[in-house]
Amino acid sequence: SLRSPLSLPPIDQPLSTSEYVLSLLRNSSPPATAGKDVESATYLVDASSGDSLTYGELLRGVRSLAASLQKRFTSGDVAFVLSPASLHVPVLYLALMSIGVVVSPANPIGSELEVSHQVEVSRPVIAFATSQTVNKLRSSSFPLGVVIMDSPEFLSWLTKPEDSLIPVRVNQTDTAAILFSSGTTGRVKGVLLTHRNIIASTAVSHQRTINDPVDYDRVGLFSLPLFHVFGFAMMIRAISLGEKLVLLGRFELEAMMKAVEKYKVTGMPVSPPLIVALVKSELTKKYDLGSLRSLGCGGAPLGKDIAERFKRKFPGVDIVQGYGLTESTGPAAATFGPEETVRYGSVGRISENIEAKIVDPSTGEALPPGKNGELWLRGPIIMKGYVENEKATAETLDQEGWLKTGDLCYIDSEGFLYIVDRLKELIKYKAYQVPPVELEQILHSNPDVVDAAVVPFPDEDAGEIPMAFIVRKPGSNLNEAQVIDFVAKQVAPYKKVRRVAFTNAIPKNPAGKILRRELTKIAVSGNASK
Ligand code: AMP
Repeated sequence: SLRSPLSLPPIDQPLSTSEYVLSLLRNSSPPATAGKDVESATYLVDASSGDSLTYGELLRGVRSLAASLQKRFTSGDVAFVLSPASLHVPVLYLALMSIGVVVSPANPIGSELEVSHQVEVSRPVIAFATSQTVNKLRSSSFPLGVVIMDSPEFLSWLTKPEDSLIPVRVNQTDTAAILFSSGTTGRVKGVLLTHRNIIASTAVSHQRTINDPVDYDRVGLFSLPLFHVFGFAMMIRAISLGEKLVLLGRFELEAMMKAVEKYKVTGMPVSPPLIVALVKSELTKKYDLGSLRSLGCGGAPLGKDIAERFKRKFPGVDIVQGYGLTESTGPAAATFGPEETVRYGSVGRISENIEAKIVDPSTGEALPPGKNGELWLRGPIIMKGYVENEKATAETLDQEGWLKTGDLCYIDSEGFLYIVDRLKELIKYKAYQVPPVELEQILHSNPDVVDAAVVPFPDEDAGEIPMAFIVRKPGSNLNEAQVIDFVAKQVAPYKKVRRVAFTNAIPKNPAGKILRRELTKIAVSGNASK
């Protein structure tokens, strides 16, 4: 690693993510809130309702909720969370993790089919939902039932006297969260992240901010989902720093700009499509975005050209880039400081405490600087494995603890990481994961489809869109609109097939594996037939 190592709490010290994060907040010196009284400072704001919490209310809420819930659970139980971003989500995550309950958050706009698969994967004993999302859950799947987070009962738990909390021993090596990712191949899997993983990830992002003193109060705006590792990790980081955090339930460009103006937002974690939208939109002139100092961009590739166009339009706003995976508890590389942030095209240098190597994917041999190969990562942020899936775990984590990222990369002689291409089959639509196999299974269930393959098709606004190649049954006149509609009914909107081509055969290797790159090439060259 080219960055100096950062010390972490001794691994055998019992410590939950929650305890660690809240202790960082208490001990931040000088306080990240610029000398203000943290206890009474407004801290979490819900931009859609205007409701807010002070730091004191957050802390008490976490303890009260933990005290109210703890009798129901045995340590290691899993809680499924299906909720749009709200003030209650961070409180719930921290409360559950503080009593050794594993948090398993899923996308609230997922289809019933997707949600029930995630429930099967993470095996929760309880679910936390809202009155909007509860209808996607079968209550019989949860031995301890389904809790509605906007019910009077839940709200009363947040204000229960906290002194009844019985201390629970949580080891750093215990699982803290199960997030969902399809990894390098196949369907969605549960990524086991330990408290140690999250502590190690938070330590780095917390320290970076502490080392980067600024002369203004930091206000972060979150339109990122809190169930995905990027939002999850950035939210925990913000809490550890006492940053004011404004939550925007769902991403919408104009609502976001309004919130920037209203709350004088200084920074936002974003994915590349938002930068594209800001570059292209005329609406940016309507709002005062002058408070913005930096965007933390990750989750998918950001084109050099877009980054440069952004900088010309917003010269006062830095784009800090980060690269990471669910399997690495978020950022494993990032740009830091004025010199690194302008290296557009690179995602920065490998983070503190992380080892990286570039490997020839066919031989497993490590390659020198400047050569393209698969990026392998090792260190305290690397997941424990996939839930109940030894095969997928063994394919992704080798015996020595290296995580095979499935990304084709090179590292230059100064240690800057460049992401060249994705070797794995994953599609990223607006940085959201779309596992092609899931869509292929749905397409195979259509009686008019003999064979199908789904591949990424490049798109300026979304990064990539899912494109389906279909072999029709002889005599069928299934058309593009029908294919799109058939899939759309069964998946979350971001997973929709958005382009279709019909073909006589799907190219496969002798083992029957779809030759996806070949299909993408055909599609991009314009030779696919509609
Ligand atoms: P996820 O687990 O959803 O965070 O997806 C991780 C994958 O997203 C990585 O393996 C990359 O393929 C891609 N990715 C994340 N960040 C970047 C980035 N900054 N540049 C290019 N690709 C990225």
